[in-house]
Amino acid sequence: MNAGPTFSFEFFPPKTPAGERVLWKAIRRAEALRPDFVSVTYGAGGSSRDRTIEVTRRIADETTLRPVAHLTAVGHSVAELRAVIGQYADAGIRDVLVLRGDPPGDPKGVWHPHPDGLMHAYELVELVRSLGDFTVGVAAFPEKHPRSPDWESDIRHFVAKCRAGADYAITQMFFHVEDYLRLRDRVAAAGCDTPIIPEIMPATDVRQIRRFAELSDASFPEDLANRLEAARDDPATAHRIGVDHATAMAERLLAEGAPGLHYITLNRSTAALDIHRSIQTIETVQTVQTSRSVRVCA
Ligand code: FAD
Repeated sequence: MNAGPTFSFEFFPPKTPAGERVLWKAIRRAEALRPDFVSVTYGAGGSSRDRTIEVTRRIADETTLRPVAHLTAVGHSVAELRAVIGQYADAGIRDVLVLRGDPPGDPKGVWHPHPDGLMHAYELVELVRSLGDFTVGVAAFPEKHPRSPDWESDIRHFVAKCRAGADYAITQMFFHVEDYLRLRDRVAAAGCDTPIIPEIMPATDVRQIRRFAELSDASFPEDLANRLEAARDDPATAHRIGVDHATAMAERLLAEGAPGLHYITLNRSTAALDIHRSIQTIETVQTVQTSRSVRVCA
């Protein structure tokens, strides 16, 4: 583990051999930075789920990275969930990010649990905990879970999920630091000190980000959208705008005491690595300045 705030990267299981090559290039580039962990998302069904297990197993076997496997309750009976957790354990994976998941096809549709499955994420936290010595993460929502009718119930259920055995939480993507700070303060006011790691989404492609933001109900700042729109035909400028915005957010989050940063990579780590390097440069400059001023004072 790195001293101080953690940093980590999120990948998804690719569908094609070409996608696999892109993923592994990104994983190797991330590995060189020695992140605290990397996570692999869990798909909506069948073969994509097998690929999550394969990719996570390969990360455990062939790299120096610590893999965190996502797992959702969607479409699984409890017996199937036990089997997947067993496969993770066999692959040497001890870290699971537990999510309820959304209805397949229409993520905003009505949620129906599997008839022999689980209704809420806290039950999956309990299940994973009961099956071995796993480290368990859960999801947090800076703009409230889209299905929560109000903040009071959202926080109450989040805290219950933590108390069921979560070691930490990772947030949904967000673009306003205040949303994260308000969530953190509400959770703390409810007497819960589970660390909440903010997820950083580099916004370098306005169409893609608008789609993600719509799916996750994250509000996307209009001024950032306008600047990205203006740079639509200039990928290098759009990249710089997205990286600068995310770097400023990340710096402020760390200054506010966030316990880490979890970068979405979309399997192309360039933007995430650029943000991380910018932050490291700023931290190094600040450390040098601080040690200079300490010497001056002494
Ligand atoms: P829950 O904690 O069960 O909450 C869902 C809703 O139910 C909330 O409104 C909550 O307040 C309410 N609730 C909870 N407990 C109760 C109760 N006892 N009684 C009544 N209401 C209750 N999706 C994927 O498919 N694959 C992934 O790999 C994936 N990775 C993700 C990673 C992160 C960091 C995040 C933030 C999300 C990820 N998602 C993924 C999306 C995620 O599955 C959805 O956002 C899902 O809706 C999250 O549910 P949850 O785990 O918070 O569920």
